[in-house]
Amino acid sequence: MRTLLRLKRQIPEVLWRNWTKRSCSNSSINKSILKHLTSKIIATGPISVAEYMREALTNPVLGYYVKNDMLGAGGDFITSPEISQIFGELLGVWCISEWMAAGKSSALQLVELGPGRGSLTSDILRVCSQLKGVLGETGISIHLVEVSPKLSQVQAECLTGNQTQTYNNDHTFYRSGTSCTGLPIYWYHRIEDVPRGFSIFLAHEFFDALPIHKFQRTENGWRELLVDIDPENPGKLRFVVSHRPTLASSTLIQKDESRRHVEVCAEGGVIVQKLASRIAEDGGAALIVDYGHDGTKTDTFRGFKGHQIHDVLEAPGLADLTADVDFSYLRKMTGDQVTCLGPITQRSFLKNMGIDSRMQVLLRSSNDPSVRAQLIHSYDMLINPEKMGDRFQFFSVLNTARLAQREQRQKSTGMPVAGFTELEMH
Ligand code: SAH
Repeated sequence: MRTLLRLKRQIPEVLWRNWTKRSCSNSSINKSILKHLTSKIIATGPISVAEYMREALTNPVLGYYVKNDMLGAGGDFITSPEISQIFGELLGVWCISEWMAAGKSSALQLVELGPGRGSLTSDILRVCSQLKGVLGETGISIHLVEVSPKLSQVQAECLTGNQTQTYNNDHTFYRSGTSCTGLPIYWYHRIEDVPRGFSIFLAHEFFDALPIHKFQRTENGWRELLVDIDPENPGKLRFVVSHRPTLASSTLIQKDESRRHVEVCAEGGVIVQKLASRIAEDGGAALIVDYGHDGTKTDTFRGFKGHQIHDVLEAPGLADLTADVDFSYLRKMTGDQVTCLGPITQRSFLKNMGIDSRMQVLLRSSNDPSVRAQLIHSYDMLINPEKMGDRFQFFSVLNTARLAQREQRQKSTGMPVAGFTELEMH
């Protein structure tokens, strides 16, 4: 039951019943990534948890995300966009409503970080087609930041019917194509390669996959947790506490920190800073959706394999590693150049976006009992506080002018930010 109630890997019953375990016969991969890590530790000493996590998840040859398609019925986990099309449709309406509220720029870049199987962007593209009348001649382009060649292929299949070209290092993007709805799509390794311009950024279950540093308060001050070879069993890894301060422990802990154990996702901080300065300079908004907390939790680093909680130091490269997102840290890292909203729960956000009315429309349009049952089941998965409703959080980074506009207009027409208050399309 614990497995079923797990967040990222939460599996709708209908999929669970038909579960097929992902083949894990390639234990040689596990051996070689472990070997790679142990050689590194022998050569240079214990490594940070961030380095361990980065290698295990995104090593260019052996990383978990690089090698696998871990989403969906045959994979390791399922996410909200995979559960129901309603999720992506409501986020699509959010993107368009923010574009409208920001003054309907003539060009709109939709940028997704870590698009998985491409389902979220696919649902958003459908909404863009349906709202053509609203979007008019706006030049929409799609930009996907994806580290995994394997998943970029899955996304290309989903979004273009596999009509893409790939490129070497002579372009900033490594793949491009045209969506089934006729829009240009580009794939990048890094956010900095995405062209500048008015953009709406989406990151769904992306930040939780970024490497974290772990720190422990000791009687000698803050010390970083490192990963070392277990002297009792050289084929295994163990955590050790660094004897001396590290660069990370000297720079990443906030002065007023009161917890005894802290996780800091410096890479997430750098990425949100990049989003913030682009939004401040070029206009646009970001919507970050993930499980997380507001600077209160301590030890959230965990591994999952075969739908079970898994020792984070076992089978690197074959198990998923994740940590809750610290939204208070992301907010701090955006600085004062932008305005942040949230985090608010998925339940509140989707209710504000009108999920109930959308459900009614879909239910009315189908008489098939199994389709209706599936719709109700996925609605419950997304909204139920015991399932994804309360655990997933929505956090937004907005151009400050957007909210200045909001304050001015609120007196007369009211122009709230959709999702954080009820949706109003003008
Ligand atoms: N957003 C999707 C998938 C979430 S899984 C969904 O919710 O269904 C995390 C995604 O982020 C995968 O696509 C993974 O390959 C990608 N990813 C992980 N680390 C990354 C990094 N450092 N840079 C770019 N993409 C990354």
